[in-house]
Amino acid sequence: MENKKTDLEVKRNKILDQLIGMPRLLNYPQINQLGADYPTAFVHHIARFELQRLRDTILTADKNTLDIIDTEPSLLADTIAHHIKIKLKQSVAPAINAAGIILHTALGRAPLCQEAQQAIATAIQNYCTLAIDRDTGKRGDRYAHIEELLCFLTGAEAALVVNNNAGATLLALNTLASDKEVIISRGQLIEIGGSFRIPDVMKRSGARMKEVGTTNKTHLRDYQDAITEETALILRVHTSNYQIIGFSSEVPLRDLVKLGQDKNLIVLDDIGSGCLIDFRKYGLPDEPMVQDSVKTGSNIITFSGDKILSGPQCGIIIGKKRYIDLIKKNPLTRALRCDKLTYAALEATLKLYLDVETLPEKHPVLKMLTLSVKKLANRARTFQRHVKASLEKKCEIEVVNGFSQMGSGSLPAQDIPTKLISLRPQTMSAESLSALLRAYEPPIFSRIVKDELLLDFRTIKENEIKTVEKAIQKIFSSP
Ligand SMILES: *Cc1c(COP(=O)(O)O)cnc(C)c1O
Repeated sequence: MENKKTDLEVKRNKILDQLIGMPRLLNYPQINQLGADYPTAFVHHIARFELQRLRDTILTADKNTLDIIDTEPSLLADTIAHHIKIKLKQSVAPAINAAGIILHTALGRAPLCQEAQQAIATAIQNYCTLAIDRDTGKRGDRYAHIEELLCFLTGAEAALVVNNNAGATLLALNTLASDKEVIISRGQLIEIGGSFRIPDVMKRSGARMKEVGTTNKTHLRDYQDAITEETALILRVHTSNYQIIGFSSEVPLRDLVKLGQDKNLIVLDDIGSGCLIDFRKYGLPDEPMVQDSVKTGSNIITFSGDKILSGPQCGIIIGKKRYIDLIKKNPLTRALRCDKLTYAALEATLKLYLDVETLPEKHPVLKMLTLSVKKLANRARTFQRHVKASLEKKCEIEVVNGFSQMGSGSLPAQDIPTKLISLRPQTMSAESLSALLRAYEPPIFSRIVKDELLLDFRTIKENEIKTVEKAIQKIFSSP
């Protein structure tokens, strides 16, 4: 036993001795050359890191691993070059969404309309009129650009925009109910995407949460009975990412508003998705509209900019002017404020809504939602024709029916009919095919169901289809 260990140590030391030193490594031709194309300090940093990694591997390797470790400097140099290239490539880069989840949070949620992209591009050229009054030359209000638009579109008295809806809710609660009680139904204590949980947000806001009712049923009297001297606010949260089906009921907003008016309490409606369009007009499933909440009499309404609204990431707060004024004065508002790119993009997005005629064509989310199954079927069939030859004996391909999803906690129980390409690879697993598609430039994200890979044409843009075809052809034509 003792001897064996020593053998291993001897072997380990021998390999360590063969390992190139840092000064020689930096002078090694391949590494030296990298300095011409990449920042020298970064090249040195990665070289040091990879050399140390190799040393650590040798130090911890067992006998079998030691046998296969290669300390050849040119191999190490290749690894270093590879890592430098990968690390310096733009990491947040365009991707193709073939997964059929329209508001895919990990893929950046709603795509921006042309106008918003243009607005960002122009705003970042140099300085911009973010918060300056052009008439007086004095400092103005950065909310002014969008406040009037938001009020016009929603019917609210006043508005402001912060980093996201989580921030909007936190800020509103902190301003209006810190150290006071907030009543909420147990059926609305939602979690969105793992990190937004109503009880946690409430705690951080300084408000004291008073839960009423049960998971499936909450009655108006539950709210009435919970009101005390300490109560400041009634919070209604749209349960946007789940539904309670069966024996269940919530108190309608109008009843909460009435109760709020009677008892002098603020009613805050976290509506989540921020839908400004009547979906039923387009034959789509009903989604609560911001305008309706305003009309019903909510004092404050919060919603996301990058969900159904199809704008940039932000949280929009609208409502009664006296409350919005208080929120604007809260120091937290500064901590949650958005940058000029967001304002530029949001302004351009909101302007789309001024013309309902062109909206379905220009609004990226509405455009995807209203693509007809017939059109999607045509695209899928054309795709199938184009790639079929390259799949011969390697992959089965079929056009099938399926459903797209809204994603990001919208329309939870409403699947949207679509047409999919189903691929059943014979020479590899569906997982491997999915990994190859992700490794393609640009990366393509698909969906896997059992051993079948699905491409949803609802979220693939028309001008991206050729790229997806090429990716499939390339993957299956390489040996
Ligand atoms: C999505 C959502 C949030 C969180 O919004 P973000 O913009 O992601 O911060 C909060 N409340 C509801 C009801 C939501 O649907």
